[in-house]
Amino acid sequence: MPETTSNPPPSHGTRAGNYFISNYPPFSFWTDDQAAAVEEAYSAPHEGTPPALGLYHHIPFCRKRCHFCYFRVYTDKNADEIKHYLDSTVRELEMMARKPLIAGRKPHFIYFGGGTPSYLSASQLVDLTDRMKALLPWDAAEEVAFECEPGTLNPGKLTAIKDIGVTRLSLGIENFNDRILEINGRAHRTKEVWRAYERARAENFDQVNIDLIAGMLEETDENWQNNIAKTLELAPDSVTIYQMEVPYNTGIYKDMKASGSLVAPIADWETKRRWVKEAFAELEANGYTISSGYTAVKNPERTKFIYRDSLWGGADLLGLGVASFSHAKGVHYQNLTEIDDYDAAISAGRMPTKRALRTTEEERMIREFILQMKLGRVKADYFQQKFGINILERFAAPLAQIQSEGLLQIESAAIHLTRDGLLCVDNLLHDFFLPHHHTDKIV
Ligand code: SF4
Repeated sequence: MPETTSNPPPSHGTRAGNYFISNYPPFSFWTDDQAAAVEEAYSAPHEGTPPALGLYHHIPFCRKRCHFCYFRVYTDKNADEIKHYLDSTVRELEMMARKPLIAGRKPHFIYFGGGTPSYLSASQLVDLTDRMKALLPWDAAEEVAFECEPGTLNPGKLTAIKDIGVTRLSLGIENFNDRILEINGRAHRTKEVWRAYERARAENFDQVNIDLIAGMLEETDENWQNNIAKTLELAPDSVTIYQMEVPYNTGIYKDMKASGSLVAPIADWETKRRWVKEAFAELEANGYTISSGYTAVKNPERTKFIYRDSLWGGADLLGLGVASFSHAKGVHYQNLTEIDDYDAAISAGRMPTKRALRTTEEERMIREFILQMKLGRVKADYFQQKFGINILERFAAPLAQIQSEGLLQIESAAIHLTRDGLLCVDNLLHDFFLPHHHTDKIV
């Protein structure tokens, strides 16, 4: 039984570190001596019915590096270098599609992330996806998701993105204020947002999502209210709001270090949570439904996010490209994080694995549990049927602790986070980790 740690008081300045939990066990437990586990996972098909298969393609190029960005991105690559990278990712797919674990399966969902997938030209996108489809057909895919930076979109490119089969277009708007976009190092400005959104609507994508960040440098109450108003004006199918965190390898952290400051010059966690709470309340008042700790959707019957829900339900994910993350038959792994190293591995016909972790059944159960907690509701019978575990008993102590803080309720054999619980969900999840996986909370 994991130890229970009481949750800290709600008001804290934003210190450096990762708040958002995207996987379990934590990345710091993945090691570079477990590459053989990845080879082994791919060497035989699943026993019995395989889970859903997803394909992730990483485009590590951006026009400019945002000050809050912690991803490995390149802003200086020319067209030949980009073409060479895309060729390498196709060679990687060619290698992986032949492996016994993948052969004969078709992806249920496809995700282009980055970096900036929309940095690619229309012809690069068409060529890349034609070659990908020839290796692993997309005809069984229920969702093709694609991240865009608004300033990179023109009508021809948006038509190409639609034509290659994208169903979920996600626009990284982040803020509706040019001064805030500029001071945070974003490449786009608001006039590009309106133009990109209008053109995306004209292309009739099944779903348009917009991303916002609560707590960018110089964010204020007044400007945040304006962000909410502008969001309602656009009326996207889905709105995703992240609370700004300041990981160590960001420009903001480098400035903090240089000035000897322990606290980032952005809003504290209490304020960021309040801003998301206000946005969720306004969105709900305008007909949206809150579908996770980060997302509001206009029509929950129609607007799904298959990538998220499949991953959080234990799907296999084949990640292509530099630094991409994958999950294959219970083995987590990440690709090499430098483009030259990645390229050298692919050229030599080797899997470009950097670090990996073979998970136990218990770790996979905890992983699904904590990821599903981010939806704000977790049903006990799902875990009973899939893992033979009664989660209400298994996690009785941490659940009771969080319940006593008014952050969740248990009804009809299901856990329901309250709104306040949902808004700080990442901070609650540490309490469900195995004792040897406990890491520092930063809030
Ligand atoms: S657009 Fe996204 S990936 Fe690119 S630098 Fe900005 S935050 Fe990073």
